[in-house]
Amino acid sequence: MNIVLFGPPGAGKGTQAKILTEQRGWPQLSTGDMLRAAVKAGTPLGKQVEAILTKGELVTDAIVVGIIAERIDQADCRDGAVFDGFPRTIAQAEALDGMLAERAKKIDLVLELKVDDQVLIQRADQRVKETVAKGGAPRSDDTPETLKHRLSVYYKNTAPLLHFYGRQGKVVTIDGMAPIEAVTTAIAAAIDAHK
Ligand code: AMP
Repeated sequence: MNIVLFGPPGAGKGTQAKILTEQRGWPQLSTGDMLRAAVKAGTPLGKQVEAILTKGELVTDAIVVGIIAERIDQADCRDGAVFDGFPRTIAQAEALDGMLAERAKKIDLVLELKVDDQVLIQRADQRVKETVAKGGAPRSDDTPETLKHRLSVYYKNTAPLLHFYGRQGKVVTIDGMAPIEAVTTAIAAAIDAHK
């Protein structure tokens, strides 16, 4: 199955995507992880996007659509994939529908992880503190100001996708404020109900 994990920054998409990969074998396709890897490796793409990531802005649709187009043709995506942080704009969602249709595939389910802004801000604070306590460096976009900006970018550009996928009848809303295991159980139930 091809699944979109949908929700604001810090909703738990990455955590649940990794669990889904373990449980079902569908790879996690996180454009954020791919872009951060490019920044870390110092590739031309990484140099192009580094400042954009730090500011919490969106990179261009062409860049992320290109990355995903290459990735979905790899063998491990044959039986499906978990899209995490992609698509983030209507143009990206349309491009994704198009490229899947060309391959006789489609998005089967969009799982919306619903979490209050206040909880997202607390979680980000917590994540920074834990990373620093372990001697690590927090993500450059995990400052409180940038998180607020990322949230506003989410509401302006990404949240409208709920209507896009809602019209296709694909959205299932999950309480993302429940404990991690409860979210995992709710996701599993949504997937099994869809089969
Ligand atoms: P994430 O790890 O999903 O929160 O993504 C981190 C950052 O990478 C975002 O704030 C954007 O700057 C960039 N990014 C990741 N995915 C996308 C996307 N689908 N479209 C545009 N920018 C993206």
